[in-house]
Amino acid sequence: MRICDAHADTLYNLVTAPGRPTDLTMDRLQKGGVSLQTLAMYVGPKAPLEEVEQLFSRMLEAFEGLKRQGWVQAFDPSEAVSGEVRFMLSIEGCEVFERGLETIGRYRELGVRMAAVTWNHENALGTPHCVNATDGLKPFGLEAVREMQRQKIAVDVSHLNEGGFYDILNKTPVPPLASHSCCRALRDHSRNLSDHQLRDLFSAGGFVGLNFYPAFLTDGRCTADTLLRHFDHLLEMGGEGKIGFGSDFDGIERKPEGLEHPGDYPALIEALRGHGYDEKTVSDIAGEALISYFGRL
Ligand SMILES: [Zn+2]
Repeated sequence: MRICDAHADTLYNLVTAPGRPTDLTMDRLQKGGVSLQTLAMYVGPKAPLEEVEQLFSRMLEAFEGLKRQGWVQAFDPSEAVSGEVRFMLSIEGCEVFERGLETIGRYRELGVRMAAVTWNHENALGTPHCVNATDGLKPFGLEAVREMQRQKIAVDVSHLNEGGFYDILNKTPVPPLASHSCCRALRDHSRNLSDHQLRDLFSAGGFVGLNFYPAFLTDGRCTADTLLRHFDHLLEMGGEGKIGFGSDFDGIERKPEGLEHPGDYPALIEALRGHGYDEKTVSDIAGEALISYFGRL
């Protein structure tokens, strides 16, 4: 089985809190049977562009350091192999593209394969969920999205507002993904996707990685059962073969009970089986759906 995770903030933690233990360790990834771990370069709090660029350089250096310790980079999710751990770069907050469209190709060469248009603050591309729902992509945002699509970088709508989400769906040819998002019908939070958004995203050929953050999953106790309710709902919205994991490890201060780090994936896989999903659905959610999504770019 290939287990893939569409989002973790480990690189940011390594450079901003060096020495602090991270959720992701090679031991835990191996124990959990993870084949592909996406590592986001996260923009952090609003800052001048020069500082953001410096931060990204430091995260890239940290990744090079991990590679020197034997971590293996994947340049496409199809490189995921059962029994081995590989790492793919993404971007969370596209401020670094504000220098111009040519920067997109530079990050693509470094192996960046997905990029979230915004984090939780407005940038030159678009407006996040927490500012307003209605503003569409900015003209530069639309150009940048089209360039990302041309370069086969998956456009990530997690954190983006609804106006931007629908501009990507309606004005551009390639389906986006939500790398770490949950269902608004089950937990009313602006970070979560509405049923309307989920249906439209799935019918366009998009993908949703379920975020493990309890505050996005429920207002009560959070266990594997809570995640199962979200997976059930995603399937009802048309998500068969188009949903998976977007843990947000190293970006969330609380975790579901029994799902503290990647070493706990086997228990989650067993919970999916125990819930009655057939083996095809389990392997799709575990990782095959993310890999096949990249085939649609
Ligand atoms: Zn995030």
